[in-house]
Amino acid sequence: DISGTDNKGFKGHDMLAPFTAGWQSTDVDPLIIEKSEGSHVYDMQGRRYLDTLAGLWCTALGGNEPRLVDAATKQLNTLPFYHSFWNRTTKPSLDLAKELLDMFTAKKMAKAFFTNSGSEANDTQVKLVWYYNNALGRPNKKKFIARAKAYHGSTLISASLTGLPALHQNFDLPAPFVLHTDCPHYWRYHLPGETEEEFSTRLAKNLEDLILKEGPETIAAFIAEPVMGAGGVIPPPATYFDKIQAVVKKYDILFIADEVICAFGRLGTMFGSDKYNIKPDLVSLAKALSSAYMPIGAVLVSPEVSDVIHSQSNKLGSFSHGFTYSGHPVACAVALEAIKIYKERNMVERVNRISPKFQEGLKAFSDSPIIGEIRGIGLILATEFMNNKSPNDPFPPEWGVGAYFGAQCQKNGMLVRVAGDTIMMSPPFVVTPEELDELISIYGKALRETEKRVEE
Ligand code: PLP
Repeated sequence: DISGTDNKGFKGHDMLAPFTAGWQSTDVDPLIIEKSEGSHVYDMQGRRYLDTLAGLWCTALGGNEPRLVDAATKQLNTLPFYHSFWNRTTKPSLDLAKELLDMFTAKKMAKAFFTNSGSEANDTQVKLVWYYNNALGRPNKKKFIARAKAYHGSTLISASLTGLPALHQNFDLPAPFVLHTDCPHYWRYHLPGETEEEFSTRLAKNLEDLILKEGPETIAAFIAEPVMGAGGVIPPPATYFDKIQAVVKKYDILFIADEVICAFGRLGTMFGSDKYNIKPDLVSLAKALSSAYMPIGAVLVSPEVSDVIHSQSNKLGSFSHGFTYSGHPVACAVALEAIKIYKERNMVERVNRISPKFQEGLKAFSDSPIIGEIRGIGLILATEFMNNKSPNDPFPPEWGVGAYFGAQCQKNGMLVRVAGDTIMMSPPFVVTPEELDELISIYGKALRETEKRVEE
């Protein structure tokens, strides 16, 4: 996920601009963050902000967890680097693979592959799936189906899987092998009188129609975030994943769970797949994997897929793919320690304990005349500002309603993610009840200021 301040190109709620990582240059005036402590960060002037997005949905253990620093230091002092190519590897890399394979219980996983980021994890998924189908002698089964408003990264392939126009336009994307199906946002897209279940049934039918139109023999995989993140925090409607999984299974299409935001407790379960009874063939991880103290991503592969890729009868030769820093020992050592802390401190249970305060405290503002919807689950939530509370009546972009709200939050010591008129939050798992009080109070203040501004 990348963010910035350039509002150009915003075209209402489907666009969710801006998506620009800041160019590191001197002709802009960025907020420079210097230090972090728990759920707060400090700028160069010593101003303190509650960091409600946990960096970019990632610093799950907050800003100054000494055990992660110690784990990194220890590993740096022992073996700062060795690679994981040609049947050579390091102990932290092997231990982390074993840990992740044990932890992911929604479906048995057999192999782990490490990357440096979520984007690289999703690019790796595409190569794995293509290789798998080549090994099975079906080279035409290569297309991917992702969803409108999905966010899967910003490399050429992961940006193609992404379903946000801002990530495509001007880049000649998506790549031709990527198709997009419906965004499962019930509030915005349901028909009059349609229940959540009926909406899910319709979306599953649309997916099936797309598969049949393209030819099932050409569709390799379906990719989905359990809860859509950067596309606007969109939890799935009731029965959605049951119905979608039935369709992909019927046509021998692999299911990739992009757990980059949802894993390690954010939804109140260890993985998003646990929450929605998803049985993926492949899983992408990053972000909270190391609580973002080191860059690392991972791909988990089910035995059914990995057996084909590694089978003796496979005449394709090696799966020639990998990064210098795949399985970087320092990143793996930090990730191992982060996971140890998640388990020791019962982070999943903690998220379940504190998230009602977060969800209910903010959803209490739903009556505001400028709020269309507040939605979320666990420690992830979005507010969407809309005119007349309607899902289809955005404020004129030039009013900058979301940006104004974000600026009010910042003025009052809180950082939120602003994407057009959608405001997103995913606080660290270690956020305290007192910090949630602070969050709700600043939100309320910023909302009142924004309401006044819209009325003017
Ligand atoms: N997948 C999801 C669901 C994400 O939210 C992100 C980043 O926000 C990515 C993939 C890409 O990860 P990265 O920015 O580490 O490449």
